[in-house]
Amino acid sequence: MPATLEVKCTNEDCELDMFELHYTYDMPEETGVSDFQCPYCAQTDSLDEIEL
Ligand SMILES: [Zn+2]
Repeated sequence: MPATLEVKCTNEDCELDMFELHYTYDMPEETGVSDFQCPYCAQTDSLDEIEL
């Protein structure tokens, strides 16, 4: 199965709680949470991966 990441935004002013990233098999292995931005506040450095 391609990776699924649970991500939360740590920006105090952001109302987004958490969301999931679903990768496909084509996603490069080194792709991590730092390659994305928050879909709500658009910050790039506020995302944290939640360890399940
Ligand atoms: Zn945010």
